[in-house]
Amino acid sequence: MAINMIQTVADMHCHTIASTHAYSTVKEMITAAARKGLYAIALTEHGRAMPGAPGTFYFENLKRNIPSMYEGVRVITGIEANIIDYEGNIDASDELLDRLEWVIASIHSYTINGESTVESCTNTWLKIAENPRIDVIGHCGTAGYEFDYDKVIKVFAEKGKLVEINSGSFRFRPKSIPNCIKIAQLCKKHGARVIINSDAHFEDAVGVHDSAIKMLEEINFPKELIVNADIDTFKKLLIEKNISLD
Ligand SMILES: [Zn+2]
Ligand SMILES: [Zn+2]
Repeated sequence: MAINMIQTVADMHCHTIASTHAYSTVKEMITAAARKGLYAIALTEHGRAMPGAPGTFYFENLKRNIPSMYEGVRVITGIEANIIDYEGNIDASDELLDRLEWVIASIHSYTINGESTVESCTNTWLKIAENPRIDVIGHCGTAGYEFDYDKVIKVFAEKGKLVEINSGSFRFRPKSIPNCIKIAQLCKKHGARVIINSDAHFEDAVGVHDSAIKMLEEINFPKELIVNADIDTFKKLLIEKNISLD
């Protein structure tokens, strides 16, 4: 199948008003996912280091309050943990992560302390790769946080980390695009699996992955390495991660 025929089946990186710099409710995001025909959506608010982020109590109560299936969509409880230093530390405890189904770790300028160099960024991602609780490497192409892509992506592949191709970056982080292309090419080289996510901060962006898919198509990215490009592969991923299918 040509990659441009790809229809993503899940959007596993989304924010709601709980992050306070996103502008749709949980229900609006789920409805948007249902409208798009998605099988699953992950709610991944920022960890507490981000200004205005929800507290631990929010995350602890997610699963108990949000139905796992709603409007025909599998709603997965997660977090976008912020990497807070260049030693791979994040702003969420292991105990909290164990109560959630899906964990993204990302670098944001607002929440990381220390000096960004290729060496320091390489170090922090290598440490993240060793963290068994982290599922997804969030938008690692962010400009200003370049690392030894070849070395680290090889390790991401070995450790089974999913490298995010963040479609929001094509809208909001245009300086990152050349890095995203390099990263995708290295995922192809090393056999690292990728996941296409919107990082939506408003309902209209849920499941909108066209720019990311176009980029992957242009580099002849193998479809079998994209975990959310067909339902069977995606369900296998959930089973692999002990995440229930319904
Ligand atoms: Zn982020
Ligand atoms: Zn995000």
